[in-house]
Amino acid sequence: MALPDSFLREIHDRNDIVSVISGYVNLKQRGRTRVGVCPFHSEKTPSFTVYPETQSFYCYGCGVGGDVITFTMKMDNLDYIDAVKELAQRSGMSMPEYDEDKSGIAREIKRTVLEANKEAARFFYRSLYSPEGRAGLQYFKNDRRLSDATIRSFGLGYAPASGSALTDHLIKEKGFRAADLVTANLTVLSRSGRYIDRFRDRVMFPIIDVRGNVIAFGGRIMSDEKPKYLNTSDTPVYKKTYNFFALNLAKKSKADHFILCEGYMDCIALYQAGFDNVLAGLGTALTEQQVKLFKRYRSKAVLCYDSDEAGQKAAMRAIMMFDKQDMNTFVIKVPDGKDPDEYLKHHGANGFVRFKALVDKADNEVDYFFGTLSEKYNYQTVEGKIYALNEAARFLAELSSPLKRDVYAGRLSEQLDVSKESLEEIITKVRREIDIRNEADAERQQERAEQSRMHLYIPESIDPALIHAKSKRAEKAEESLIACLLTQPELYSAVKNTIRAENFTMPLASKVYKEITQRAEAGRSCRLYDLTNAFSEDEYNQLSRILGEYSEKSLRVTAETCLAYAEAILEEGEKRTPQELAQESDENVMEKFRELKARKKRKRSADE
Ligand SMILES: [Zn+2]
Repeated sequence: MALPDSFLREIHDRNDIVSVISGYVNLKQRGRTRVGVCPFHSEKTPSFTVYPETQSFYCYGCGVGGDVITFTMKMDNLDYIDAVKELAQRSGMSMPEYDEDKSGIAREIKRTVLEANKEAARFFYRSLYSPEGRAGLQYFKNDRRLSDATIRSFGLGYAPASGSALTDHLIKEKGFRAADLVTANLTVLSRSGRYIDRFRDRVMFPIIDVRGNVIAFGGRIMSDEKPKYLNTSDTPVYKKTYNFFALNLAKKSKADHFILCEGYMDCIALYQAGFDNVLAGLGTALTEQQVKLFKRYRSKAVLCYDSDEAGQKAAMRAIMMFDKQDMNTFVIKVPDGKDPDEYLKHHGANGFVRFKALVDKADNEVDYFFGTLSEKYNYQTVEGKIYALNEAARFLAELSSPLKRDVYAGRLSEQLDVSKESLEEIITKVRREIDIRNEADAERQQERAEQSRMHLYIPESIDPALIHAKSKRAEKAEESLIACLLTQPELYSAVKNTIRAENFTMPLASKVYKEITQRAEAGRSCRLYDLTNAFSEDEYNQLSRILGEYSEKSLRVTAETCLAYAEAILEEGEKRTPQELAQESDENVMEKFRELKARKKRKRSADE
């Protein structure tokens, strides 16, 4: 990507990697580095390491590494340019002009899909107010009592019943290609080989990301036909496990919490009633990525789920997931088993006040759990008590906060009229099982992390051939040399006449040195982040590891040390196994010998 070197440098100067990553990961100081629990894989013991001195990171658990830009790419699911844009925005910089090169193809597809989605949203909105969309408008306005303003805020719409109204419009009027519309999942190929609309005769809910892009749609049928909801499948711009409905609106709210609903309509009804901090899932069970996304905006979740059994189960599941991320969860109980939409309609003008009261007195996660427990079991019977006790102990033991465990063990023992000690005994027992499980996990991870530090363990995704050097000594010298050149680029002149890319025995080191050579000769800067687009993801991950490990040991080295690395690499490279020796011609061996002698002589005079 052709962004000016100076601009990239400023991005990195202004976006310190520790402060950016701290926004997502809780980092603790360890020696010259910071460590935390990896946001890219599930772990209990921190193996995610940030290196302030080289402004890089590497995870010894899953092998992901990089700089502040690649971190932002992975964390926010962005492409390179969008990640740069985000960081530029964060630090108050404006983007320079740049040329898109071939790595912009994926980006081009994304842009086309987003553009098609935007046009589709406009088309659906217009259709809603056209004669054809009368049933849809009636559904929103009469059945759901939505105002025109609410319809506009959410960009609601109607997908016409005729087979290909949208597809025809986008191709003929807007110049899109059918293939791109299929990629966007707006169009499908019918069995008879015709391009037809994916959404037909449905009211439409656009799903908009935090940057205001229309990334997908949910379409609801107005009759009792199934499926009631049809959603966009995953596309290059959309993952349903990664987003929320209405997060674009909720993120602007001043409230300290978000209200999480199950359905789009509940969410919209609450918004219209005056709650600007509501969002909804996208038709799948809550995922870990969604919880993490949620946590980036608010640390307090208020769940507003259906009161039926399925809803309660979903709420309990959500509670445990939020708890794992150290978040506080509250649960709203809408009276009489109503859903929020019904409840608000029932109370008309008083809807906001009435519902606000429900939010204010929402139970925290533990009280909510106790409530469902007392509905389920009869505490008057011994049997009921025992069942409740066991279930409660299991729940309390799973909670991450020891304080909460203790306080609620006391309260529960009162409710069930059993001694706190006996309850604590059960909790401790369950807790021990959990700890043993966690410890086993942690140990395994620790082991892998240790092995990785000693290069015995390479995460499965990495091709071992990439970082294979001829010998342990060669590996150390090659890694050290490229690392010190990337941190002290001025040292290149000290080694440039001594060593060439072909002398390196590790494929990755050789490639890096070649890149350094080219950039240095062209007078361009060569830091880790300058290399992003010249290397594959695996290569870049490993390069980040090498650089990080190097910065932990030593930092500023002299030209002599640098030269010594180069000499060691040459020496290792020239070592011949007996088989190799047998195959070489005498002339070759003599030539190598003379070279070696000359170099030793040079070295001696340099030492003097
Ligand atoms: Zn990881």
